[in-house]
Amino acid sequence: MPTDGSLRQFLDQQMPEALRLLERMVRLNSFTTNRAGVDQLARLTAESFAPLGFVAESVPSRFPEYAPHLVLTRRGRSPHSLALISHLDTVFPPEEEARNHFQWSVEGDRIYGPGTNDIKGGSVMMWLVLAALRQHAPALFEAVTWKLLWNSSEECFSPDFGEVCRARFDAGTLAALVFESEGRLGAEHLMVVARKGRATWRVTAQGRGAHAGSNHAQGANAIVQLGRVVERIASLTDPARELTVNVGSISGGTVLNRVPHEAVAEGELRAFKSEVFVQAKADLLALAGPGDLRAKTDRFPCEIKAEILSESRPWPRNAATNSLFEIWQRAGTEMNYAINAQERGGLSDGNQIWDVVPTLDGLGPWGDNSHCSERSADGSKLPEYVELSGFAPKAELNVRAIVKLLERARIKS
Ligand SMILES: [Zn+2]
Repeated sequence: MPTDGSLRQFLDQQMPEALRLLERMVRLNSFTTNRAGVDQLARLTAESFAPLGFVAESVPSRFPEYAPHLVLTRRGRSPHSLALISHLDTVFPPEEEARNHFQWSVEGDRIYGPGTNDIKGGSVMMWLVLAALRQHAPALFEAVTWKLLWNSSEECFSPDFGEVCRARFDAGTLAALVFESEGRLGAEHLMVVARKGRATWRVTAQGRGAHAGSNHAQGANAIVQLGRVVERIASLTDPARELTVNVGSISGGTVLNRVPHEAVAEGELRAFKSEVFVQAKADLLALAGPGDLRAKTDRFPCEIKAEILSESRPWPRNAATNSLFEIWQRAGTEMNYAINAQERGGLSDGNQIWDVVPTLDGLGPWGDNSHCSERSADGSKLPEYVELSGFAPKAELNVRAIVKLLERARIKS
């Protein structure tokens, strides 16, 4: 690696072009279910990486409401490959962007706009890193097979993207690098080394309806029963085991002169450790069975049903991720850039692939307020933004670390 500052100088020179690309990406609405918008962004992304020698493949999603995933490949001469991962979609419907006047806007060192931080800034970071590798480590760049994968629907449940990735990994795949935004703690830049798993659930109480005036004792009140169960669900939360069980919504009953026959609660649970996650799901499912609320007349019991609706397994701290993180740490030390590891509560595509190839996340630029579009006059509400000055140094870190990773694999440059 050049130590004369020419790498950083190159990256600084690329910033105007990188920002033009970011602006074009941010101005395209790519809300998960806006198929046409996500498609357009996929085309723009493929076009932008084509000059670096990447060939595009569009992989249909298993879910027809979502646009295809995007895979860009550049074949190398060695049997080794590296996977770089991002996503195309954002959480903002076009109407919400219009209503909140939420659009591309550069203010000082911040760029506000939908997806600036989650994750279009990360996609542009990939472009910067690859452009710099081609310039400063051309032999390594040519030797490796690069596989860039964009999930079309990361913000919704998209388990098929994990299969798309795994089908393209092989014994020569050295690592999967995920370009979600970095964390910050003071001056420390935080890479993501673990993420909680998440399961969504539904618990239904079925009682027996009755006329609330003339036949109240005949009723088995499903809402009252569910209220008792909801307390038990909430008490499954256990900070000592980093387990949260959140009751997210509740509904039940119809009109006020009936004893309600049904009530439904839904929510999610999250944990870092696989065994805690598995146990929490079992505890939730064990709530099923006869309830403790019965009708006065004949002891008719309410019935509890419990279901897991979807799940993304945890990405626990593991040795393969740790060894990747150490490479990034060494690169950071070399350039006097303080980095540390973060275990994050939110999901990413890392959850789907960490046990197949060594995975490191948080390689995108730093920003804040992801998934927020509102702005208040007093500044107490600010929308999503990415930090402008963070791009070039973070790209330098990623380039230096990737070179170390390839050298460790003894790829001939
Ligand atoms: Zn994201």
